[in-house]
Amino acid sequence: NLSDRLADTFKNLRTKGKLSAADVDGTVREIRRALLDADVALDVVKEFTATVRERALGDEVNKALNPAQQVVQIVNEELVRILGGQQRRLEFAKRPPTVIMLAGLQGAGKTTLAGKLARWLAKDGHTPVLVAADLQRPNAVNQLQIVGGQAGVPVFAPEPGNGVGNPVKVAKDGVAWAVQKQHDVVIVDTAGRLGVDAEMMKQAADIRRAIDPDEVLFVIDAMIGQDAVATAKAFQEGVDFTGVVLTKLDGDARGGAALSVASVTGRPIVFASTGESLGDFEPFHPDRMASRILDLGDILTLIEQAQAAFDEEEALKVAEKFATDTFTLDDFLKQMQQLRNMGSIKKMMGMLPGAGAMKQQLDNFDEQEIVRTEAIIQSMTVAERTNPKLLNGSRRLRIARGSGMTVTDVNQLVTRFEQAAKMMKTVAKGGVPNMPGMGPI
Ligand code: GDP
Ligand code: MG
Repeated sequence: NLSDRLADTFKNLRTKGKLSAADVDGTVREIRRALLDADVALDVVKEFTATVRERALGDEVNKALNPAQQVVQIVNEELVRILGGQQRRLEFAKRPPTVIMLAGLQGAGKTTLAGKLARWLAKDGHTPVLVAADLQRPNAVNQLQIVGGQAGVPVFAPEPGNGVGNPVKVAKDGVAWAVQKQHDVVIVDTAGRLGVDAEMMKQAADIRRAIDPDEVLFVIDAMIGQDAVATAKAFQEGVDFTGVVLTKLDGDARGGAALSVASVTGRPIVFASTGESLGDFEPFHPDRMASRILDLGDILTLIEQAQAAFDEEEALKVAEKFATDTFTLDDFLKQMQQLRNMGSIKKMMGMLPGAGAMKQQLDNFDEQEIVRTEAIIQSMTVAERTNPKLLNGSRRLRIARGSGMTVTDVNQLVTRFEQAAKMMKTVAKGGVPNMPGMGPI
C-alpha cells in the first residue's frame, strides 16, 4: 500500500548531511510511483511531486539537522495542505434548520451516511430529520426509513399519491415539515445512478435550487480509484458541493481518492465513513489522513533510531574505503564492534518492510564471534592488518598461537573478511542503497 511504499522510499534517504539532487530525485520518483499505485490522479501526482521536489532541494532541507526527516516533514505538510489543511466543520445555518443535501453516485453510501450523520448530530444535541428524496429505486425510501429508525430520528417520506415521482417536491415538503416541527437540521437523501448522467445531475441541481441547502455534501466511495476525479468534477459542474464525504475508508483504499478529489475540486473533505454500521463515522482530519497515508509515526521513529545507532561519518568513510579497495582488517573489526551496538536496530528492523533477511542476520549474530575476531586481529601486525594478502601459512600459525585460536579460526576470519570486502566493494560501487545512515556491514 501507499504507506509501505513511502516507508521504503524514505529509508533510503540519508539521515545526515546534504541530500544530493540524485537523492531527492530518487525519492520523488518513488513517491510518484507510490501515489500512482494508490490511484491518485496523474495531474495531482505531478503537481504534488513537483512541489515536494522544489522544497526538498531548497534551503530548508540543506540547513536542516536531519534532511531526511525534513523531507518526510515536507511530504506530510504537502499532503495535509492538499487534504484541506485544517479540519473543516459543518456550517450550521444562523437561522435553523440547517439544510444538508447529499449527492453522489448510487452505492456511494449516501443513505448510510444520512443515518450516520443524523445519529452523530443527535448525540451532539441536535434534532435532525431525514428526508427521502431518492425516488429512483423502489426500495430507497424504505431503506432510509430503516436507517432513520436505527438512528432514532424521524424520516420524512412522500405519502402514497402525493409527490411520488417528484423528488424536488418531496425535498421541499420535507424542509417545510422540519421547519414546522422545529427540527434544527434537515438531511436530504437524493438519488444516484451507477454512472454520471445528465438527467440525474439535473434532478440534483433542481433539488439544490429548490431547497437552497447550507451544505451540499458530495459522497464518494474511497475505493472508486481513478474514476474519482471524473466523478467529482462532473458533480462539481452539475450540482456543485460545499464539502466531500469519503466512504468505505475501512477498505483497502489508503487515500488515493481523498487526495485526488480534494486536490481537483478544491473542496474540503468533511467526514469519513469507515464501515457499514452507524457508528463507523468521524469528522475528517487532514493531518490524520496524511499520517495514515504516510504512516508518519513509524517513519519518523525509524529515522530517529537509525540516526541514534550509527555514526554516519564513520560509515561514509568505510564506504569510501570499500569503494577504493583500502578496506583493512582494522576497519573490519571496527564494523564488527559497531554491530555490537545494534541491539536497538533489531527492533527497528521489525518496522522496515522487507528487512526480514537483515534481521535474520542480526539474530544469528554471535557475540562470541566478535570476541574471537578481536583476539585474532589484535594478534596481527599493522602491516598484516592493512594488507591481508601478507597472511601466509606461517603468519597464520603465529597469529593463531598468539590469540589462543586455531589456524582454522584464523582462516575462517580471513575468508569472511575477503568475502565482506568483495561484496561491499560491489555494493559501494553499484550505489545500492543502504539502511538510513548505515554504512555497509
Ligand atoms: P447510496 O446508494 O449512495 O445511498 O449508498 P448506500 O448508503 O445504500 O450504501 C451502499 C452500500 O455500501 C451498502 O451496502 C452500505 O452498507 C455500504 N456502505 C456505506 N458506507 C460504507 C462504509 O463506510 N464502509 C463500508 N464497508 N460499507 C459502506
Ligand atoms: Mg441511497
